Amino acid sequence: MKLKELYQEIILEHGKNPRNLGITKNFNKDAKGNNPLCGDDVHIYLKLNSQRKVEDISFEGKGCAISMASASIMTDLIKGKSDNEAKEIIEDFLGMIKENPDLKSNILKDDEKTKLMCLSGVKQYPMRVKCATLSWHTLISAMNNDGKEVSTEE
Ligand code: ZN
Repeated sequence: MKLKELYQEIILEHGKNPRNLGITKNFNKDAKGNNPLCGDDVHIYLKLNSQRKVEDISFEGKGCAISMASASIMTDLIKGKSDNEAKEIIEDFLGMIKENPDLKSNILKDDEKTKLMCLSGVKQYPMRVKCATLSWHTLISAMNNDGKEVSTEE
């Protein structure tokens, strides 16, 4: 199987069976985001415990396969990480989608990096980049607890 096909398969699979869908029980941080150009909506919920670790994270939303797969993969990888690790992963992912050829962070294992690299195919399509990064920007807003709704068009 070619890498591109593998990537597509992972995206479709996550789009069809999103992980961590729903509302985190006893969440203490959340934020909403939307991408009006495509019609993607997400609401990210997380529970950050007293050790600053993401004990649980989930999302609700609707939108295209890319936006849903990205939220699904993101919540999977962020769960169990400390807030600093989460921030490093977010920065790494956004850097890769924007310009870097690869992920740099050592926090993620190789199979986890493969999941994120699935989304690298959107790089050449600015509209799709918004779909792929929506949930990540929304997670930043949730972690900062700034209560601001994230829009890709601001
Ligand atoms: Zn979309």
